[in-house]
Amino acid sequence: MTSTVLLVALVVGLVGWALLQQVADGLTESRSDTAVAEARTGFEKAQAELDAAVETQPQAQAPTLTQLVDSVTDTDSENRAYELVLEGPLGSGSGAPPIRSSAELAPGSLPTDLRAEVLDGPGVFWRYSELSLVGADASPAVVVGSQLRSPGTGDTYALFYLFSLSEQQQTLSLVRNALLLGGLAMVLMVGGVAFIVSRQVLTPVRLARRIAERYAAGSLEQRMHVSGEDDIARLSTSFNQMAASLQSQIRRLEDLSRLQQRFVSDVSHELRTPLTTVQMASEVLFDARRRFDPQTARSTELLKRELDRFEELLSNLLDLSRFDAGAAQLELADVDLARVARAAAEDPILARGGIVGRAVGADRPAVVQADIRRIDRIVRNLVANAAKYSGSDVVEIEVAQDAFAVSLAVRDFGVGLQGDENLRVFDRFWRADPARTQGGTGLGLAISREDAVLHGGTLQAWGRAGEGSEFVLTLPRVVDPARRSVAPLPVVRRVFA
Ligand code: ADP
Repeated sequence: MTSTVLLVALVVGLVGWALLQQVADGLTESRSDTAVAEARTGFEKAQAELDAAVETQPQAQAPTLTQLVDSVTDTDSENRAYELVLEGPLGSGSGAPPIRSSAELAPGSLPTDLRAEVLDGPGVFWRYSELSLVGADASPAVVVGSQLRSPGTGDTYALFYLFSLSEQQQTLSLVRNALLLGGLAMVLMVGGVAFIVSRQVLTPVRLARRIAERYAAGSLEQRMHVSGEDDIARLSTSFNQMAASLQSQIRRLEDLSRLQQRFVSDVSHELRTPLTTVQMASEVLFDARRRFDPQTARSTELLKRELDRFEELLSNLLDLSRFDAGAAQLELADVDLARVARAAAEDPILARGGIVGRAVGADRPAVVQADIRRIDRIVRNLVANAAKYSGSDVVEIEVAQDAFAVSLAVRDFGVGLQGDENLRVFDRFWRADPARTQGGTGLGLAISREDAVLHGGTLQAWGRAGEGSEFVLTLPRVVDPARRSVAPLPVVRRVFA
């Protein structure tokens, strides 16, 4: 709207200025033409009177001219079409020739170059100049001058006509005011029209934006109101079609995903019972392995180990399907993460691998509201991974806290993580070693992250190839179900970030 109004104001201003210029030129030109013609007739008449006077009263030429000037002076100033200035007789005696004028003129009303031209010789000359009478405002004027010759005495006189252009100036200011008013009215009108049109167009567009935002925020039922057959109506129809198609696709994918989750959960449940039986049978065999020949004993040990892994995998899958179904529940209590960190540093899994566990910043309590079972599971998993995958000699478990959150970092100085591995480690079934020489299910970190998110916290990883990696668990002091997805600020010192 602003640009439209500015553009129209510019165009109107330019056109108005050009028009005004033309009118001004036209007015002064026509006035100067008539003024010169009028003056020419005046000169001829005066010369004729001078010529006539020579025969009747040879000495009366000069009075003839002064009478001419006086007759103008005597005219009412309202009806005066011009002022007259008579100079002469020229060249008689020393000093400036006498001057007689019909009104008291301010000095400089006669342009010096015009005067010089007139004094120089015969002919009619004219100029634009200014007419400034003593005691009145100056106005633009046309000055016409010529020489007159008295045949009797042989004297020459210079006669000047000064035509005021004030009438033209008044007309011009009227035209200027009319143009100004017209232009202003036009700009206002265009501004008003632009305002109305933009409102008509913008209102439905704003409505559409609000609906699209709500749709993007997840209310898939949102549709636009369609009225009429204009472009906005067509846009609304297309938007509604797109929304409906997206909604049905999302529904379809949701159904599919629910079906898959259900399938995993059902399969895991179904496998549990036979697995328990097989597990029991394998326990019996395992306990009796010393009585078997070495090959059978080895097979029995293998059977037991793989069945343990199978059971772990099944229980991990069941956990994940509980998260997916939104059925995971928190049993909240006050948990001191400093104590958890100290216990983790003492975890026998580290000692078994010849690794030194070191607790940092764990000497003062760092209490959060949490489910101790899940927190233990996360930390145990992180420490086990550090022992299992890193090949590090030292594992640091650091606690840092601020008023709103507590972070617990498990840091090792082993193989580290490279590229986007710090993100991929949390993918289900992702493992850096596809040969799976280290056992494990590839689900541990995925479950740990779900556990952290369930508390409204985060679990993030950083690492540098060959230098080590750190896994930082950050939990809010208080679990707020309304702000589940908001991650608290990680306050821990990051070594590999
Ligand atoms: P799992 O241990 O059962 O394989 P996880 O989800 O715990 O599954 O880990 C996934 C993968 O992340 C591991 O297979 C390993 O390749 C990588 N990983 C985990 N912790 C570390 C670590 N501290 N250093 C290097 N790699 C790790």
